[in-house]
Amino acid sequence: MIDWQGTSQIKKVSYTCGFCGVRVGPDVGYLGNNDRYVSQNKPQKIKYKIYICPNCFQPTFFDNSAKQHPRIRLGNDVEGIDEKSVETLYNEARDCTASGAYTASVLLCRKLLMHIAVQKGAKEGETFVSYIEYLNKAGYIPPNGQEWVDEIRKKGNLANHEIAIMIEDDALQIIKFTEMLLRFNYEFPSLIKSKRASVS
Ligand SMILES: [Zn+2]
Repeated sequence: MIDWQGTSQIKKVSYTCGFCGVRVGPDVGYLGNNDRYVSQNKPQKIKYKIYICPNCFQPTFFDNSAKQHPRIRLGNDVEGIDEKSVETLYNEARDCTASGAYTASVLLCRKLLMHIAVQKGAKEGETFVSYIEYLNKAGYIPPNGQEWVDEIRKKGNLANHEIAIMIEDDALQIIKFTEMLLRFNYEFPSLIKSKRASVS
């Protein structure tokens, strides 16, 4: 528990905390009011709010248009990743989404998927789409992941020759795909290994 000083009762809101991922509804925090002049004779009432999460006690800032900072971090934790660079890239891709940096998140996931393909034996210097096809053909993607592969491939082709600006849905899709791949290729094998180790 963190004892935040000078908080007050403010209007209750419901949001998913960007730090702990829990849906919360606090009514305690900080309220900031101000009259700002955007141009002469055009006052704009500013209302800023900082809510304290009752679960993890971290502060979340809501700006004048009620936008949440940090936002919800997309994706879920994956256990058993024994390669530091893979874990770091996956976490950075998730962290980007909490700041609304969806294009950066998609680019990081693409980099990560290419890295995994090379680790699993693909040739270096190929295109993103060819790496996805390699992972698929070599059996690193579960059979019912075919529709996902097609979607990721389509998106990959779109963004191949230019930096396309990505939105939250694009980031969510590639993060979910990456999460599935990491779970299938790192978390599940590590569970079997630790089970065998505890039996012998
Ligand atoms: Zn929280």
